[in-house]
Amino acid sequence: MLNNYIMDYDNILIMAHKRPDGDAIGSVLAMYLYLLGQGKRVSFVLDEYASVFSFLPGIDKQGLKNDIDLVIALDTSSIDRLSHEELFKKAKHSIGIDHHPSNTKYCDYNFVYDMEPATCQILYYLFRDSDVLITKDMGICLINGLVTDTNGFKVGNLTSKSYEMVYELSLLGVDVKDICNRTVVMKTRKQFSLLHKAISNAEFLLDGKIAYTYLKKEDMDEVNALLGDHEGIVDMILNVIGVEVAIFLMETKDGVMASLRSHGNIDVMKVASAFNGGGHVCASGFTIDMEMTKLKNKLIMEIEKYL
Ligand code: 5GP
Ligand code: MN
Repeated sequence: MLNNYIMDYDNILIMAHKRPDGDAIGSVLAMYLYLLGQGKRVSFVLDEYASVFSFLPGIDKQGLKNDIDLVIALDTSSIDRLSHEELFKKAKHSIGIDHHPSNTKYCDYNFVYDMEPATCQILYYLFRDSDVLITKDMGICLINGLVTDTNGFKVGNLTSKSYEMVYELSLLGVDVKDICNRTVVMKTRKQFSLLHKAISNAEFLLDGKIAYTYLKKEDMDEVNALLGDHEGIVDMILNVIGVEVAIFLMETKDGVMASLRSHGNIDVMKVASAFNGGGHVCASGFTIDMEMTKLKNKLIMEIEKYL
């Protein structure tokens, strides 16, 4: 049981992966709220996150406030993907909870269930099986992860367990529809402008099996885009009938960021691995220092091997 691994430690730090998404943030906050309730000295650290997540309970409490005996790493497949690798290495003990198939089991104890659609779903059942009292605030954070990693219950390995979690947390008063609307449905005008631009840039290649689009730095500058404003674009172009793989490239300060999506027939994690990235069968990504058109062509050649 999860509790047995945690309760011996008083000073705990929680963290997740770089460029945190809704599942990373949700799982960190749910764990934080739980341990706070247990009277632990607990802190969490996160990289910069999209403002859409500002409503989550506890998110304003971030920062290292205690010594570290135990570090809990959530939703993160390897040490180099952690947002705060140096703090992770300072801790004598570590626990990892994750759903990435590529997880390298880098912690002392690794709860890795790669068939689950979100780390938040793993956490929900670990809590439930440990007879942990799950509060409404914890539930909001857990649902946030499930909703975002499944793009509003549309992708990922959703099973009756996911809907059971939704049902049970709804009974606590968690407004699942509201969280879904806030995080994956509603768009700001800036996001809408970027989507508009990306859709007008879209191309369909190899008999319509590959959908490709991109945003340049000037597109982001033009609308004064905020962190995370591109989210959802790649999922949108995957939704065109006949498309098996969607590619979205975006210029960032670190290089070109690639987001890949599939319906599952093609393993885009393998494609991303060829560029030192990773993720899941249906959703993967990487960032690379390469000219955009060159990268596009290399990606298409790589994907073609699997079509
Ligand atoms: P997204 O396209 O939403 O940025 O990322 C999709 C998935 O790919 C996420 O599950 C994320 O964990 C994974 N991913 C994105 N970028 C990287 C990366 O640079 N390295 C690895 N290993 N995984 C990544
Ligand atoms: Mn996740």
